Amino acid sequence: MEQGNVPACVAQALRWAWGRLRRVGVEAPYREALLITSHVVGTDPAELVAKDGELDRGARDLLRELVRKRGENYPLAYLLGYVGFLDFVLCVRPGVFIPRPETEGLAERARALAATLPLGARVLDVGTGTGALAVAIALVRKDLRVVAVDTSELALRCAWENAWRLGVLNQVELRRSDLFQAVTERFHLIVTNPPYVPSGEIPGLPPEISWHEPGEALDGGEGGTELLQRIIRSAVSHLESGGWLLCEIGHGQGAGLLRFAKGVTNWLELRVEYDIDGRERYLMGCLGPTI
Ligand code: GLN
Repeated sequence: MEQGNVPACVAQALRWAWGRLRRVGVEAPYREALLITSHVVGTDPAELVAKDGELDRGARDLLRELVRKRGENYPLAYLLGYVGFLDFVLCVRPGVFIPRPETEGLAERARALAATLPLGARVLDVGTGTGALAVAIALVRKDLRVVAVDTSELALRCAWENAWRLGVLNQVELRRSDLFQAVTERFHLIVTNPPYVPSGEIPGLPPEISWHEPGEALDGGEGGTELLQRIIRSAVSHLESGGWLLCEIGHGQGAGLLRFAKGVTNWLELRVEYDIDGRERYLMGCLGPTI
């Protein structure tokens, strides 16, 4: 792509970035231009428009480079190094799954349930990635203890950084574990956003996802629910009586997973809820007493 010269004036550089991003078909070109330009200038996006300084040579080169990469489908969150999640900001590194808006719905449900848990309750986040769910839950109640597991060292480092920056490192224990393999305790709440995309659908995902995000965070096996089924099965022996399991799932997986979960144990409550786009997205189960 022919880039042209990046103007030195901040307002014009922003306009330049917007024009480029719009031309390559980025869905929210102004928002992204604003975020990328602010990142380069080192200012808050809310203050960029009022800024009447100039970009030096290095900043102009960086802006050109970031806009070029974004035009090649490199995810915005990796370019910026952060993503907004609920009411806070998470750092994100290439190689670590980028938290999605639909997972905010899972976090909100988990926060609502967290309010009903006993003092000092234990929470488990399976496949924590950036630590989004673990941190979101720890932030609402200082007495909760959260164990967050992942197989990826890269993810665990990123989650550590997020827990540290957001001031919940004393509540969140990060542990390397393949699902429940290194988990022996029981919990009052288990949350998970595991890989649930059917293997065959991965190559057909937008290139932004399939080229750049870690496949192991997406690939849920042939039918997409392989890991979800393993998690549901293991969760039963890791939940306190009356404890909750909250899973993010894919659209069309609800009925099969409900059937599977019912076959595994007794639930006091078991249901699928929908995301804001009206798609099946959350499986919620409250474990009955183990009689
Ligand atoms: N909703 C995700 C996506 O396709 C899939 C997340 C997952 O597999 N956990 O972007």
